[in-house]
Amino acid sequence: MSDSVRTGTATHCPYCALQCGMTVDQELVVRPREFPTNRGGLCQKGWTSASLLASDRLTTPLLRGSDGTLQPASWDEALSFVAQRIREIQGESGPDSVAVFGGGGLTNEKAYLLGKFARVALKTSQIDYNGRFCMSAAAAAGNLAFGLDRGMPFPVTDVDTADAVLLAGSNVHETMPPFSQHLSGAAVIVVDPRRTPTAEAAALHLAPRPGTDLALALGMLHAAVVEGQVDAAYVRSRTTGFDAVWRIAAQWWPERAELVTGVAAADQRRAVRMLAEASSAYVLTARGTEQHSRGTDTVSGWINLALALGLPGVRGSGFGCLTGQGNGQGGREHGQKADQLPGYRKIDDPEARAHVAGVWGVSPAELPGPGRSAYRLLESLGTPSGARGLLVFGSNPVVSAPRAARVTDRLASLDLLVVADFVLSETALLADVVLPVTQWAEEDGTLTNLEGRVLLRQRAVPPPEGVLSDTDVLAGLAVRLGQPAERFPVAAEEIFEELRLASAGGKADYSGVTYARLRAGEALYWPVPSVDHPGTPRMFLDGFAFPDGLARFVAVDFAGPAEVVDSSFPLWATTGRVLQHYQSGAQTRRVPELMDAVPEVFVEVHPDVAARAGLDDGSLARVVSRRGSVVARVRFSPSIRLDTVFLPFHFPGAGRANLITNPALDPISEMPEFKVCAARLEVAS
Ligand code: SF4
Repeated sequence: MSDSVRTGTATHCPYCALQCGMTVDQELVVRPREFPTNRGGLCQKGWTSASLLASDRLTTPLLRGSDGTLQPASWDEALSFVAQRIREIQGESGPDSVAVFGGGGLTNEKAYLLGKFARVALKTSQIDYNGRFCMSAAAAAGNLAFGLDRGMPFPVTDVDTADAVLLAGSNVHETMPPFSQHLSGAAVIVVDPRRTPTAEAAALHLAPRPGTDLALALGMLHAAVVEGQVDAAYVRSRTTGFDAVWRIAAQWWPERAELVTGVAAADQRRAVRMLAEASSAYVLTARGTEQHSRGTDTVSGWINLALALGLPGVRGSGFGCLTGQGNGQGGREHGQKADQLPGYRKIDDPEARAHVAGVWGVSPAELPGPGRSAYRLLESLGTPSGARGLLVFGSNPVVSAPRAARVTDRLASLDLLVVADFVLSETALLADVVLPVTQWAEEDGTLTNLEGRVLLRQRAVPPPEGVLSDTDVLAGLAVRLGQPAERFPVAAEEIFEELRLASAGGKADYSGVTYARLRAGEALYWPVPSVDHPGTPRMFLDGFAFPDGLARFVAVDFAGPAEVVDSSFPLWATTGRVLQHYQSGAQTRRVPELMDAVPEVFVEVHPDVAARAGLDDGSLARVVSRRGSVVARVRFSPSIRLDTVFLPFHFPGAGRANLITNPALDPISEMPEFKVCAARLEVAS
């Protein structure tokens, strides 16, 4: 056996944005390797990830036959059928009658090509992706405050030396366990309604009522000002807008915030002192605080606190957002968002349109304008103003979208649903055409991890016979729709060469990143504006991304969740992840070790609350909201708030947590309110 077979190919985990370094060999054995984010650690998902390569994955295209079942077809039959139906639908109803839905797990090359395919081959404005459900509120708040969104604008390893870290809405012990080693030297403050393993290990746990994080951030900002902990020199020299923010925060004395959030005023003051007195401190947010109908305002509230304490853009301190999906960062930079072109350019910016159209060899006037954001796009499907056809790549909205029953209904009403995936996901089961595509270790491609570092994920094993890459699918369809073949390359490196040109001069400038540099092991954090540029591990040290270099305080006030509890729905339901599963579970539910550990949906509930509803530990509960209900196994949790229940969102069918979630959208980012809705518990038969 050769050394390379024995040691395997250096690659990265297929799941979350920590993108832990690992090797995979020909025997499908995974081994962790030294990489700064994981330092030889992997979580259970990473250790078992090679199971995906051997799982019940798809190896032949499927077409729905006249008897209503999915039948094997050749690639030519499947792609020709899809192209023909697209032509018919668009011929009758116009370019926007066919939509595209992408995913935050797609490589940079796929996300880029998908955006180009939609705008150039389909000429549709209707494209968005599931990352809208993941990072959009944080991204919007980062853009407002710093002029630019890179989740963590510093390497993860910078956190190693922190004295204090505030984690708002993050449960890293379960969602990305190897990250926890970067917190080992810090006093950690966790903001989470649940006493998660991360909260359990923290120096201080603040447990606000779901949906009240912004009131907590305002109370803490008030405490910082009143107790003289504001870094006045920093605020004066590096920011603007403090006075307007203080006019609001002045009303939020910690005792008032305590009434709204349930977090003791003394604990708010203690948390602020811990951050202010640390010589190195970080504030990091994640989905728990972001997935709200005021998600952007809530992140702005945390940024305001960090700015007042003088943390962002300072070496050894900072503010960041922990990206969730594997390519959640790169996936939002290269054009699969409704309002975006590659390089983090805005699609309604004439200069950006001219630049990208030039790279694509089309006229700027041919490019469509902005389309609908993810939930609006899904909700409009099959309606008179919405698309009649949808192409889905790397996403499973039947499980992952809010108000999932409504979304399923919309998907079922389509004249054409095409799903490219490597497993028969719940969304693929509804499709007219299913296209079997390659997965992580079977293909080359780049991803951008949670710290903005561009990584090369290398092919480690050949794909099974019959499987093509998503890029083959896009090129095959584009050619059948009349595009020149040379406009849609299929090799990852060739696509990346084009992406470099398209991103050049944009906010997320990858023009200096090459496969050769990545293969040589260079740590390249964007922007990398030329091939001799070393990359930008730490942003904002010399100024923020505004012409005056100043960060913006953004004046925000607390408004509360989009719906209220009442006698019919007296509890707050919140949703999240467990260690063993990832996103909609389409992948991890196929890994036996992970299913053995957590085989079904559960509802975490305080024993007293369960008793009032007539529920025992292990019994089946129906969790009912104003939109629907979920059947889940009761799991007693004496530490959860008495007004709160928790459900993981990885399970299908009647166990979909998203059957009850509220699609109320944040007005700035259009992030749905996944993290809080009014609910009640019933005994399920
Ligand atoms: Fe690392 Fe995330 Fe993969 Fe776990 S799921 S091994 S934390 S990249």
